[in-house]
Amino acid sequence: MTKRKFETEVSDLLQLIIHSLYSHKEIFLRELISNGSDALDKLRHLTLVEEEYKSIEFAPRIDIDFDSVARTLTISDSGLGMNQEDLVEQIGTIARSGTRKFVEQLTGDKKADSNLIGQFGVGFYSSFMVANFVEIISRKAGEEQAWSWRSNGQGDYEISEAERDSHGTTIELRLNEAGQEYTNRWGLESIIKKYSNHISYPIFLHFEDSRFEGEGDDRKEIKEPKIEQVNEASALWKRSKRELKDEDYQKFYQSMTNDSQAPMLTLHNQAEGTLEYTTLFFVPKETPADIFHANYRSGVKLYVKRVFITDDSKELLPPWLRFVRGIIDSEDLPLNVSREILQQNPIMESIRTASVKKLLEEFARLAEDEEKYLVFHAEFGRLLKEGLYTDYVNRDKLLELVRYKTTRDETFTSLAAYQERMGEDQKVIYYLTGEKEQSLRQSPLLEAYREKKIEVLLLDDEVDEIVISAVGKYKELELVSINRSDAAEGLKTEDDKAAEREIDPLIARIKEVLGDQVKEVKASTRLSDSPCCLVVDGKDPSIQMQALFKSMGQDDMPNIKPILEVNPNHEIIHKLEKLEDETLFAASSRLLLEQAMLLEGVEMQNPAEFVQRLNTILNRAL
Ligand code: ADP
Ligand code: MG
Repeated sequence: MTKRKFETEVSDLLQLIIHSLYSHKEIFLRELISNGSDALDKLRHLTLVEEEYKSIEFAPRIDIDFDSVARTLTISDSGLGMNQEDLVEQIGTIARSGTRKFVEQLTGDKKADSNLIGQFGVGFYSSFMVANFVEIISRKAGEEQAWSWRSNGQGDYEISEAERDSHGTTIELRLNEAGQEYTNRWGLESIIKKYSNHISYPIFLHFEDSRFEGEGDDRKEIKEPKIEQVNEASALWKRSKRELKDEDYQKFYQSMTNDSQAPMLTLHNQAEGTLEYTTLFFVPKETPADIFHANYRSGVKLYVKRVFITDDSKELLPPWLRFVRGIIDSEDLPLNVSREILQQNPIMESIRTASVKKLLEEFARLAEDEEKYLVFHAEFGRLLKEGLYTDYVNRDKLLELVRYKTTRDETFTSLAAYQERMGEDQKVIYYLTGEKEQSLRQSPLLEAYREKKIEVLLLDDEVDEIVISAVGKYKELELVSINRSDAAEGLKTEDDKAAEREIDPLIARIKEVLGDQVKEVKASTRLSDSPCCLVVDGKDPSIQMQALFKSMGQDDMPNIKPILEVNPNHEIIHKLEKLEDETLFAASSRLLLEQAMLLEGVEMQNPAEFVQRLNTILNRAL
């Protein structure tokens, strides 16, 4: 028997793990099962490629057994196993590069160090969170001698010869106070299912089943040992794409999401190269329910080597892709990767970037079939728009994916199609924002554009305006809101300008009546059938946006006033010019403003006064 000391760093590391991961102590089981699975992977590989291993039996399994009286928990695998040298080098030291790097970065500051832990594997040592004594009995495949490694995790360990029937490793934990709870069938089952469901080898749980037989005094409890496979043992996403059918994907999707429908899109990607990872993404047919809540649940689960890590990370994909369900399984991340680390981890960053690219490509492919694409867009268009606003890097691609209503016809258009239809003189893309498609289609602001046969996009989604004004441009083309006073400048002809000057005195009179209800009164060039319309000044938020901000509880918005534009060629305006009755002039001017507001969908401030004015005029007319 040999007694050896842990390297001092190992002792430090042990203390650190025990303290910083204490609240997640159940992960020790995940770590031990994953070690068993790694050892099975290694043996399988050797039996496939190495001559001297070809005769070795590969009967992969992991067994978990507990004894609630003796307070022990045993995890056993039929994998590669370890000999004496392995035990010293791999368990008793920190020769492994990951741990070495970890220890080198330790600062001695407890808090900073516990954060560090998430970047590296904690592995085998985590068993000391729940055990005060651990024994490993291992026999390496191809060797006769088995070895025992024992330690209480307090500074030294012992190694001696031992016996084991066949190759593999058994780890027996003598549970401490905190570990008592791991001698319970249901508890163990749920931890195994949670973290290790997709480990590719079967995990068997041994337990005692008890039942009662007989009646009255003869009634007695009969205990029987049982073994049950707990995990599903198949990570569908790890299987080759060629062997998977639509139906397999669909079943997997449905068991993962509880969705009764099949997914709209399925994307399976197995990346090999500098980084090795698998992603399997689904787009549901319908928007998941909580998606517009601030505390939505992420639909993507992270695995490391088939071991479940988290389904609670919003870092896996950018927030605008939160309608995507699925999994990411990395071969390169450490098992213990923490939430804070995920945010800045370069491996995660590459996976995320590549995943977003793949998804965008898939959406673009879908868009080749406009009819199908509009179904997708109806569900998720709003999130694409959110992406336009928040995901600067992917903005250009997203701009190709959004669709808008248009004055051209009753369907939707892409910006590319709009651009293609633009006349030679048209230098910008025009859009009109508002609440309802119907009132947009009838807006007086469109009149001049209709006359000049210029297409205008109709943006009736409340997010549109914020998004589009943030985006500003499609390729080289400026996106111009025709709700703004300056948008019509380009449309002006010399005649228009002359007409403008002529009605200057009238404008001054109207302005005097309306006072500070408006920012300005102007002659308009954009109107043909309507007497007037409302616009906003250059950079001011539109009238609808102001209403939106108010409805969101932003009361501190400065009260931004609209500009009233009047049509110099309209009969009403001509008549108004000649009107001498001051009372009637005032009532008419106010009515002009009020009708323009009504058309913008703005709530009437004082309906009683409005009706009164209307009646005054009605009275005259009748
Ligand atoms: P990691 O798994 O990240 O390498 P661990 O602390 O979990 O770190 O394990 C350390 C090393 O001990 C492993 O790399 C492996 O070589 C060895 N080991 C641990 N458990 C087993 C096992 N069940 N069978 C064979 N080798 C094992
Ligand atoms: Mg490990």
